[in-house]
Amino acid sequence: MCGIVGYIGNNNCVPILIEGLKRLEYRGYDSAGIGIIDKNVSIIEKYKGKVSILEDNVYKKKLSATLGIGHTRWATHGEPNKINAHPHQNNDKDLFLIHNGIIENYQILKELLAKKGYKFYSQTDTEVLANLIDFHFKKTKDLFEGVRVALNEVEGAYGIAVISKKEPDKIVVAKKGSPLVIGVGRNENYIASDVNALIAHTSRVVYLEDDEVALITKDGFKARTIANHKLDKTIEEITVSADEITKGGYQHYMLKEIMEQPESVRNSLRGRLLEKEGISKLGGLQGFEDRIAQSDRIIISACGTSWHAALVGEYMIEEYAGIPVEVEYASEFRYRNPIINPNDTIFFISQSGETADTLAALKEAKKKGALVLGICNVVGSSIARASEAGVYIHAGPEIGVASTKAFTAQLSVLALITILLARKRRMSHMDGRKLVKEMDLIPDKIAKILTLNKKIEKLAEKFVNATNFLYLGRGYNFPVALEGALKLKEISYIHAEGYPAAEMKHGPIALIDENMPVVFIAPLDAVHEKVLSNIQEVKARKGKVIVIANELDKKVDKMADHVIKIPSTCPLLAPILNVIPLQLLAYHIAVKKGLNVDQPRNLAKSVTVE
Ligand code: GLU
Repeated sequence: MCGIVGYIGNNNCVPILIEGLKRLEYRGYDSAGIGIIDKNVSIIEKYKGKVSILEDNVYKKKLSATLGIGHTRWATHGEPNKINAHPHQNNDKDLFLIHNGIIENYQILKELLAKKGYKFYSQTDTEVLANLIDFHFKKTKDLFEGVRVALNEVEGAYGIAVISKKEPDKIVVAKKGSPLVIGVGRNENYIASDVNALIAHTSRVVYLEDDEVALITKDGFKARTIANHKLDKTIEEITVSADEITKGGYQHYMLKEIMEQPESVRNSLRGRLLEKEGISKLGGLQGFEDRIAQSDRIIISACGTSWHAALVGEYMIEEYAGIPVEVEYASEFRYRNPIINPNDTIFFISQSGETADTLAALKEAKKKGALVLGICNVVGSSIARASEAGVYIHAGPEIGVASTKAFTAQLSVLALITILLARKRRMSHMDGRKLVKEMDLIPDKIAKILTLNKKIEKLAEKFVNATNFLYLGRGYNFPVALEGALKLKEISYIHAEGYPAAEMKHGPIALIDENMPVVFIAPLDAVHEKVLSNIQEVKARKGKVIVIANELDKKVDKMADHVIKIPSTCPLLAPILNVIPLQLLAYHIAVKKGLNVDQPRNLAKSVTVE
């Protein structure tokens, strides 16, 4: 998920690697390292924290070599520390590997390798791959072949780069689901996970495709598929200029993160859906599944956007698994002496895993004897460590203060938990399969919604001067209305409220006049007709109606001032899709108001105070 750089040539690679890693810092990371090999040296230097810490150390040591790889890690397996940082090495310490992504079957591979005598020192999936490659390298006696054969046994997503003391004139790279590009120079070549790290050196690049592996020397490269078919890769010219590269070409982290959602949601689901069985598999909850499924009650506690995800979770779990669910603001939960029984399960959701209120609520629940489980993005964070078990959402680093991709990944994980529990209780095999299949389609549907970006930007122009907004939805989409309103408040400072659509007539309807934009989330579901009536009620009072509707919905066109049509899915998963246009709408309104969307006033990314 994070950064890869590499160099082979006649110059000292160390400053090239450090500069390259700095160009990838915008992606967010928790540790950084380099591995270098030359006639007399083979060294790994890695540190928790910023690239500047690595930089200070390698420059102090005056390291030099003509072959090297560098990595910024964003932990997915094992907390961010020096041992878990990349590069990882084989047991003989003569092969270095850096890896972006997740090896799904690392546990099985680890057990197989352990039986052959391999030892493991880190908690990562990456170290397993380093030793698997070592195993096949020893058999094939060829680094390229060793990597290629090993990858045939690997399930998951990866961009990798491998170097070895035994063949110190090569870098071997491979890609599946995580980008990797070769930068072509003169008597020297580069590799990176992102062209940003290359453009200072060359504009000639070769993009690897999934299931491709390449051998790079200082004079050239060759590529094959992992299945060993020959490939003729073409060199492309890139036109990106140095000043376009911050934030990966996007104007703001928030937009970059909104746009990343097909990938981040895919990562949150990766390896966790078993289509044939119609179930989900969550390694982090292993051993606890039955206890959770037999709970008398589930409580989900969180703050802010995560609290909205929790509300969606309540609808999901109650409807499909039939377990009563309560959702609590963490800050309220901890101070009101809540009634907690030993047969309760409590999930705590926090993107950063450091939210002070949520952490304190978790400690309180633990004291009272409930099963406490975490749902976090940041691996090794305080909430992840304090929980008895839990699930990482694997959204990748989220830097924009207003949460976007973490929210949709939280919803994906809550849907996975729902399938897990429902299949243990009352969901049939057939229904499980249907749901699993539908979940698999979600990333592509998100990608389709993101093509509406320009249209939504145009729409945003009309509302730059609005001072109030109302967001309305029912059922699963009531929390989506809350989240849409929160996004707008957070970054545009426009007052916005979210309500269940039917509640409008119990108060908010008094606010509606020709100056009030009202956003309806109205997919084709069981309450669709009712929401259409609510739209009529707003129109009758001259409110400006914007509707998030499904592509097949014809009725809504005549009623609304503006309609954003998106693909449909089952009600349980609809919030993941419906929130995307709301994120874009809030973003564009705020940008058009000239505001700093990545660092909105008064807000912090990780709320570590009460
Ligand atoms: N899964 C690997 C780890 O946790 C790679 C993480 C990354 O993509 O940075 O170390």
